[in-house]
Parts: sequence; C-alpha cells; structure tokens
Amino acid sequence: MSLPIRNVAIIAHVDHGKTTLVDALLKQSGIFREGEDVPDCVMDSNDLERERGITILSKNTAVHYQDTLINIVDTPGHADFGGEVERVLGMVDGCILIVDANEGPMPQTRFVLKKALEKGLRPIVVVNKIDRGQADPHLAVDKVLDLFIDLGADDDQCDFPYLFASGLGGFAKENLDDEDKDMQPLFEAILGHVPPPIGDPNKPLQLQVTTLDYSDYLGRIVIGRIHNGTIKAGQQAILLQDSDQVVKGKITKLMGFEGLARVELEEATAGMIVAVAGFADANIGETIACPDEPQALPLIKVDEPTLQMT
Ligand code: GDP
Repeated sequence: MSLPIRNVAIIAHVDHGKTTLVDALLKQSGIFREGEDVPDCVMDSNDLERERGITILSKNTAVHYQDTLINIVDTPGHADFGGEVERVLGMVDGCILIVDANEGPMPQTRFVLKKALEKGLRPIVVVNKIDRGQADPHLAVDKVLDLFIDLGADDDQCDFPYLFASGLGGFAKENLDDEDKDMQPLFEAILGHVPPPIGDPNKPLQLQVTTLDYSDYLGRIVIGRIHNGTIKAGQQAILLQDSDQVVKGKITKLMGFEGLARVELEEATAGMIVAVAGFADANIGETIACPDEPQALPLIKVDEPTLQMT
C-alpha cells in the first residue's frame, strides 16, 4: 500500500500562476505511464474544464505521476502568514518556486523564497506564462539567481533546476526551443530533485498538526505530516499539547488526498500528509502520538493568528 511519495510546496508571488499550474498538474495526473504517449484529448478536456472555470487551489492536493504520489501543499505568499509558511514548509522536502516570466521575482517571491532557503530546501524554479509574447524568460532566470544570491542561498541551492512553463498552456520544458508538450518535464523534475520523505514507520507515531480544518460531520480536522510511525483509523492516540496537557483520544477518521478530494484510509505511514479527525482540542504545532511512547515534535512557533484566508 505504500507508494513512493514526494511532498512538495508550491511558492509564488500572487498571480504568478500557482492555481493554474496546479490545475494543469491535476488534469494530467495519472496519464503518464511508462512508454505511453499522452492522448490528444488531454488538451481538449483541459480547454473544456477551463471554460467551466475549475481552478481552485486547495491547500492540499495530491497527484500521481507513474507510481509516485505527489502531495502538493499551497503556501500563502503574504508576510502576515509567516508562521504558516514555516509550518507548511516543515511538511515538505522540496518546493516549486513559480515566477512570472514577465514580472520576474516580486516582493512575495522574495519573502517565501527566503523561508524556503532557511529551511534548507532546494527549490525547482518554474518560469511561468512563457506563452505571453513579450516574456524574456532567460532574464527572469537571471533575476531569480540574483535573488537566491542576495538571500544567501548556498551553492547547491543556487544551482537550482529550472523549467520554462505555461500553466495555461499545460506544458513545461527545459529549453525554450523544445516543443510545447505537456507537464511531464515538471513531474520528472519533482521526482528527480525532491528527495523522498524520511521518517521511520517503525518508530513511535509522531504527527505534527500543521493546518486545522472543520467539517460539520467530523468536527475539527487536523492536517499534518506523519514524521514517524504508522497511524491506523480507529486507533487510540494522544495529543501532546503546547500547554503540556496530554489528551487521550481516538483517530475517528483517517484521510489522504487524491486530487482536490480527501479519501478515507485504513492506515498511513511516515512521510505521508494526512487529515485526521478525533481531536477536537488540537492546535497548530502540537503532536499526535501513540499512547505507549509519546514524544512531542519540536513546536514550530506560531506568530500570527491560526485562521487564515488565502
Ligand atoms: P495564483 O494567484 O498564483 O494562484 O495565480 P492564478 O493561477 O490564479 O493566475 C493568475 C492570472 O494569470 C490568471 O488570470 C490566469 O489566467 C493567468 N495565468 C496563469 N498562468 C498563466 C500562463 O501560463 N499564461 C498566461 N498567459 N496566463 C496565465
């Protein structure tokens, strides 16, 4: 049941095309199989769906490429959400930095990139909207490199992989001269440059609460990454609270992500990003652990209100 996984955050200045690009990845998810060509109808169905305006960037999205599950998490670009950006980046092992080819890096590009670099992530740079005639995509890459240097990126981070893309056109490519095809180069870059999650499925459970959600039916829902151990639907667990309180409870529902939807899971292991119901008192940064060997993860500091709008 455990597929290879990649956990990646998507970071950008507002309007540089996060939603559109993730939408393109979603639409092309699952269609790439070894040795199989992309069917022509993909672009047609893209156009259809685009007309219907299906472009919502969920905070957590999952796509499949070949046999790998890629969890994509959205990151707010605004400095008001600094604490949330740090928490979200704590769930992932890599990130995609989208930069508009025309505008180049903007203030929010700088802000989110700084956080990603501080976390030690090595971003994949996507120079986007290259379908626009006036774009100078190479100049945008140069500006991005200047920004990396300015922000004190190390040599490895400065040697970032980059792609030219049009989220709207549904393609990414390594060289401007390459044919506009599909998103395969970006999927390949994610597999090749984002390390698989580390974490030991046999260690005691540690799941860090990164985002909170609510459903009328399930109550408070906790979203976070399983750093270690294995979690099963229905199991007893405990919540290690910031206030040193220990709350006993049960995992009433365990869910993973599939496209924009959530799917119920029986079990999930270290490295997975999951949604869990059963802990009505959970707060951001706290740890859900197994009752036998509870160990809290280091708290990620929260320096802003936990409810956000993006
Ligand atoms: P977000 O704020 O980063 O999520 O940006 P959106 O994906 O909502 O895109 C912002 C605007 O840019 C929208 O009007 C999109 O249609 C447009 N856009 C996004 N990607 C592309 C692209 O690749 N090419 C062009 N020409 N426009 C794009």
